[in-house]
Amino acid sequence: MTMPLEIVTVPCLSDNYAFLLHNPDTAETAVVDAPEAEALTSALSERGWGLDHILLTHHHWDHIGGVAALRDQYGAQVIGAAADAHRLPPLDIAVSEGDQITLLGADIDILDVSGHTVGHIAFHMPQAKALFTADSLMALGCGRLFEGTPGQMWGSLQKMAALPADTIVYPGHEYTEANARFAITIEPGNDMLVRRIHDIEDARAANKPTVPSRLSEELATNPFLRPHVGEVKKSAGLPNGTEAEVFAQIRAMKDNF
Ligand code: ZN
Ligand code: FE
Repeated sequence: MTMPLEIVTVPCLSDNYAFLLHNPDTAETAVVDAPEAEALTSALSERGWGLDHILLTHHHWDHIGGVAALRDQYGAQVIGAAADAHRLPPLDIAVSEGDQITLLGADIDILDVSGHTVGHIAFHMPQAKALFTADSLMALGCGRLFEGTPGQMWGSLQKMAALPADTIVYPGHEYTEANARFAITIEPGNDMLVRRIHDIEDARAANKPTVPSRLSEELATNPFLRPHVGEVKKSAGLPNGTEAEVFAQIRAMKDNF
């Protein structure tokens, strides 16, 4: 019987997260995003792990800053979006929406989740029930739209929302408390949201990460996945708006919050 993958959350820089994936049977290790080398090198050496693969979600510096140093030190191969090859570190494997690769003995499906940037990808591991979303779907939030349109981000969120509800969501930042302050203004009558915010406050008071979360929790509490809900539509000032219109409006409201 094969052991399940170990997944380790590694805080990097001021509020980024990278995630180590380790297969104890083969001793292979991968990382999702490389905000910096130092935090990752320490996390790897503490465990006696090497680094075989670096998976990149998007081109922002706070997700790729450690790639060159890690590649030099460990000889890791770098995997990222073909669409962003011109602005990512050199890629050994370039992937696109719909591709499936196998790493650490597990399948990884590539989803295009453009919106925050155009070319942002997410990594879905169906057997591990893990979804690495970086700055697309986040705990109680979604990434700011630097390059894409609201329609692109809404399409990306719908794609992720359709995955099995017991999928575990691993976003790229600890933004949850700020996201919660906004979310509660959009849906003050959501009891699950109120309870989740208490848990988030407790976790942060104890200096613990609020990620990962379960997709089912996001579906029940993340306002950006809930533009079909009456209270969300009303808060957006669009009681008869379409889901795409309501999403675009609450994304714009969050920018000015
Ligand atoms: Zn980013
Ligand atoms: Fe980021």
